[in-house]
Amino acid sequence: MNTIDTFDFKKKKALIRVDFNVPLNSDYEITDDNRIRAAMPTIKKVLSSGGSVILMSHLGRPKTGYEEKFSLKHLVKHVSKLAGAPVKFASDCMGNVPIEMSENLKPGEILLLENLRFHKEEEKGNEEFAAELASLADVYINDAFGTAHRAHASTAIVAKFFPENKMFGYLIESELKNIDKVLKDFRVPFTAIMGGAKVSDKIGIIENLLEKVNNLIIGGGMTYTFVKAQGGKVGSSIVEEDKLDVALDLIEKAKAKNVNLILPPDNIVADKFDKNASVQETAIDKVPDGWLGLDIGRESINEISEIIRESKTILWNGPMGVFEMEKFEAGTKSVALAIAEATDKGAFSLVGGGDSVSAINKYKLADKVSYVSTGGGAMLEYMEGRELPGIKAIKD
Ligand code: AMP
Repeated sequence: MNTIDTFDFKKKKALIRVDFNVPLNSDYEITDDNRIRAAMPTIKKVLSSGGSVILMSHLGRPKTGYEEKFSLKHLVKHVSKLAGAPVKFASDCMGNVPIEMSENLKPGEILLLENLRFHKEEEKGNEEFAAELASLADVYINDAFGTAHRAHASTAIVAKFFPENKMFGYLIESELKNIDKVLKDFRVPFTAIMGGAKVSDKIGIIENLLEKVNNLIIGGGMTYTFVKAQGGKVGSSIVEEDKLDVALDLIEKAKAKNVNLILPPDNIVADKFDKNASVQETAIDKVPDGWLGLDIGRESINEISEIIRESKTILWNGPMGVFEMEKFEAGTKSVALAIAEATDKGAFSLVGGGDSVSAINKYKLADKVSYVSTGGGAMLEYMEGRELPGIKAIKD
């Protein structure tokens, strides 16, 4: 199989699916360019090997056709600056415009296509749409890990038109390498820390992890579904009533597999969901009526940090509390610090999933952990052990 390192890009046009789904403010300025930066190694590799680049991406969730706020034209200048190369813009990804522009594209140049999702065929995985995209180039590179779990035209279907010349970009390559390091080549003790609001999003991944981890730490809002399922008093804390059985089942499975499942023993409770709420510390199963648990307590922090510091492989997904508010950030911040400490002592640590990534960035610890996944939903699905359409399409 060809890879980005073995393929000869000289005078070739590479169609690269990137994830340029970046946030823009009301003046259409990019407020976080991490996703664009993440695609640069692949883009630069093709350009420096004598090829030209055709970039395609989605941006936001347009409903029917063109919407100014979702136009990729707002990204042209910044992409050009980061790539250090001229960027041309095709005002539509279909029709004659991109065909003519790609015919005239010279080695060292970049052509950025307008938002794929201005055409409903993209998300439908339409074959003719994919074929037209494919006709623009000689080789296809998928470097959009964030959308690899979708069977869209540009992420999966298009690959079949490049039976020989299809490959992963550097971003997807490193995502897979690092996630596999956790899932397949882990060293023990292996500790997973799962937090965030809801258990329903994480059941699949927890089940898969129970096959591998030594310690499974539960935190955040999902804790209260486990606590209530065991008969504890959770007050007005967030609970998924229809998942109480699932929680009990996971507790049983952990026991059967000899996994140390850790629920926080104490928590910080608030009289309302507000940054100025009154707070107190209670046992996790004794939340007073009308109060809600919004962070783990001091005893929990000590116990959890200790386990993390002793671990050799660490996976963190989801905050321990409502870390967006100062009064409820201690748990999340302590976990981030403990992971950084363990990493410094030689552990391999992977942080993934939207909010834990925001947390690790908030505490400026992103470069103190081994890897921060850009994946979100794609990472969770991959960790559940599912095959991602965007990955399969390249491997088949
Ligand atoms: P998720 O997207 O499922 O990872 O959830 C992340 C969100 O969960 C963050 O915005 C947190 O503020 C929120 N969260 C964490 N702990 C709690 C809690 N105890 N109660 C309510 N929300 C929480």
